[in-house]
Amino acid sequence: MDPIEYAKAFYLQHYTVLNMWNITPGVRVVLGSGDPQACRFCQRQAPEVTFRLKAHAIPEALGNKGMLSRYECDECNKHFGSTIENDLGNWSLPMRTLLRIYGKNGVPTLKNKRDGWRIECDDGTELRVSHNRIDSVFEVDEAQKLIRFNLKRGPFVPLAVRKALVKIGLTLLPEVEVPNFAEAIRWIRDPEHPNERMVRMPVLRTLRPGPMNGQMISAAVLRRSEHSGGLPYAFLILSIANETYQVMLPSPQLDPPLDAAPMQMPVFPAGLGQNRDSICAALNLSESERVVDEALSAVMSYGARIPR
Ligand SMILES: [Zn+2]
Repeated sequence: MDPIEYAKAFYLQHYTVLNMWNITPGVRVVLGSGDPQACRFCQRQAPEVTFRLKAHAIPEALGNKGMLSRYECDECNKHFGSTIENDLGNWSLPMRTLLRIYGKNGVPTLKNKRDGWRIECDDGTELRVSHNRIDSVFEVDEAQKLIRFNLKRGPFVPLAVRKALVKIGLTLLPEVEVPNFAEAIRWIRDPEHPNERMVRMPVLRTLRPGPMNGQMISAAVLRRSEHSGGLPYAFLILSIANETYQVMLPSPQLDPPLDAAPMQMPVFPAGLGQNRDSICAALNLSESERVVDEALSAVMSYGARIPR
């Protein structure tokens, strides 16, 4: 059977989409309603905690402007912003520039003063690469009209990046599912990063080659159908520009037991139908040691303007 058809049939049989959104610029979605407001992450209510800050359901750095939640208090907002979301921001930085993802202050500029190069995107549409002298930040293959960028991620803790992705999924869950994730909610707040019960599968990343709108985000949360025990209970599927992440949302009481047989399943076929050249990789976001200067290389084709 064709692998994409197999994956579609697998998810149709074993999972249900709980919620799904397509976010484009101008779309405004506010999750949560009712008063008093209560925080999903620390369980406190107004007026014990305040809800004055904009709580982005998906971090603004990833290009989300309009999707907010009413159930993240200011204290949790600041806490996540200065911990795991920082790791996610540093980790995703080079790709956010290359995919032209418009964050809080536009598309981030990558630069290295010492080596004299910059990669920027002033108008949000075209990448501009400049450099003073030959170095290893990119190589140009003129015959094939390809540029290979050799970039570095900012410093990050792999497990913290995973937690920031899980936090997006926990934010997008319908209220009725939240009690199933009490342990995951405690885990993402815990700076000690214990992980034995919470890290069962790699984060899967699918890259669809070709031009794509850097301002397009789609997100879905999936839950296991009844009678499909033996599989993880829930996933976040998050697509930003050319990338899709599949992230298990851990619920130890509902996931298969730790000593069960390894969980085997295909990658969620988001968008794969349109492009069979997609590349999927399992990301090892399981370690709690800080990583500095991790290399990231990306190949892009270029059109008429040759960056020199
Ligand atoms: Zn809170």
